[in-house]
This record gives sequence, structure tokens and C-alpha cells, in this order.
Amino acid sequence: MPSRFSTSTSRLALVSVVVGLVVLALKFWAWDLTGSVALWSDALESLVNVATAVAAFVAIRYSALPADANHPFGHGKAEYFSVVLEGVLIIIASISILSSAWAGFLHPRNLEQPVLGLAVNLAASAINGAWATVLVTVGRRRRSLALAADGVHLFTDVATSVGVFIGLVLALATGWLVLDPLLAALVAVNILWQGWRLIRVSIGGLMDEAVSGETLELIRDIISENAKGAIEAHDVRTRHAGRMTFIEFHLVVPGSMPVSVSHDICDRIEKALRAEVSDASITIHVEPEEKAKYTGVVVV
Ligand code: ZN
Ligand code: ZN
Repeated sequence: MPSRFSTSTSRLALVSVVVGLVVLALKFWAWDLTGSVALWSDALESLVNVATAVAAFVAIRYSALPADANHPFGHGKAEYFSVVLEGVLIIIASISILSSAWAGFLHPRNLEQPVLGLAVNLAASAINGAWATVLVTVGRRRRSLALAADGVHLFTDVATSVGVFIGLVLALATGWLVLDPLLAALVAVNILWQGWRLIRVSIGGLMDEAVSGETLELIRDIISENAKGAIEAHDVRTRHAGRMTFIEFHLVVPGSMPVSVSHDICDRIEKALRAEVSDASITIHVEPEEKAKYTGVVVV
């Protein structure tokens, strides 16, 4: 059932790679034309994006594979590897931008062919901006956080590029050449900041971080509303693996209740949870009433 969604998602990821390559080529050309450190930093940022898009494409394909004997909990965590790779690339890119910014700061140079170079860079930003709009629109329509987040990320790149563009125009107008390496250093800091945020999310996933407070509240409400016949639920535990959400808890029922009746209650809760939490994997442990806890429980 998730396959149709993931095929079209992976097709979008593939288009992202192609768009990224075109933008990357334009940005390196703009740098080659001008020799600007700021444009070079902009191009390296695109290089990170392309590498990320490739890794995301592979990870989406792999993590969509159904669970198998070797990976009984599914392949959801594959997505975190792409983020780790991205983190490494981001650090390398930032260090190399900072070192050339420093060199440019010590020996400011004039830009060669600034008009053509800046025009090429602007064209690259326009393509990026258009693709970001597509990703955000499709992401919202499909309620895919990942797609929308990709689009928002691209928009921040466009903002960086526009900032660099305006700064270079100012540098040309005022003759204040130091603006070029200064802008490059700012881009480097921005890349580091974005990398840190991505890495933080994937560390959360690798460490089996619980779902957000709101989602947990929603899960508890759904259990409570759909468990008629049971007494309470306790020990609710949640974690993420990529797009999968794992939910497990104990369900206390009267000890005399037939197994088939308590199983019906479990099926009802599972169905209601799946309707609200996408890609949920649910495990329920049924217990008789002497196991009731009365504290930290979901009252039915
Ligand atoms: Zn228990
Ligand atoms: Zn069952």
C-alpha cells in the first residue's frame, strides 16, 4: 500500500537530482567566469545538495522495501545514513569555503566578467526557486513532510544565492572587494547551521527518540476512544524509523474476557491508530486486571 506513494516520491527525488546537477553546473560556470569566492561557496552548497539528493533517492528506494527475514522491523532507518553522509559533506564544504574566504580576505581580487557570471548565477537561482515551489506545493498536497521540507530547504538556498548576488552587485558598485570573501564566510556558517539541524534529527531517529508530545497525546486519545471493553492501557512507548512509527503498549482487560474478544479490541485500536498515524507498526500486549497500574495510564 505505501508503494504507489513511494514510487512517485522517488521519481520526484530523481528529478531533484537532475535539477540539482543543472543548477550545480551553472553555479560552477558562474564561479569560473568571475573567480568570486562567494560564488564558489554558492556552488559548493549546490554540490552538497546534489550529493544529498542522490543519497535521499537511494535511501527512499531502500527504506521503502518491505520488512524481510534479515530486517524484520523494516528498512526505515536507511534514511538516516544519507543524513550522516550529508553531515560529513557539509563539514568538508564549510571548511573549504572558510579557508578560501580567509585567503580572499587577505588578498582581495577583482571579479572577472562579473555581468555574465552574475547572470548565469541568477538563472541557476531561478531554476532552484521554481523547483522549490513545485516541491512545497506537491508536498503539501500529498501531506509529505519530507517533500515539503526539501522544498523549504531549497528556498533557503535560493535566499542565500540572492543574498550573495546582491552583495556582489554592491561590491562591484562600491569597489569594496572584501565583501566577496565576507559573503562566502556567511554562506559557510549557514551551511554548517543547516547541517547541524539535519544531523540532530537523524541522531534522534537513531537513538529511538519518542514521537512529539502532540502526536503522543493524539495516540493516547485514540487508544482511549477505541478500547471500549478494556480497563486501561499503560507503558505506551513510541519511536520512529524513517517514515515508520512504532507504537507499543499494554492493554489491561478483565481476566475472564475471551481471547477473541480482547483481540477484537486490539484490532479496533490498531485500525483507528493506522487511520491517524501514517506507516504505523503497532504491538499490543494484553494483560488481566491484576496487572493494572492506575498511574500513568490511558483510561478507557
Ligand atoms: Zn503491563
Ligand atoms: Zn492479531
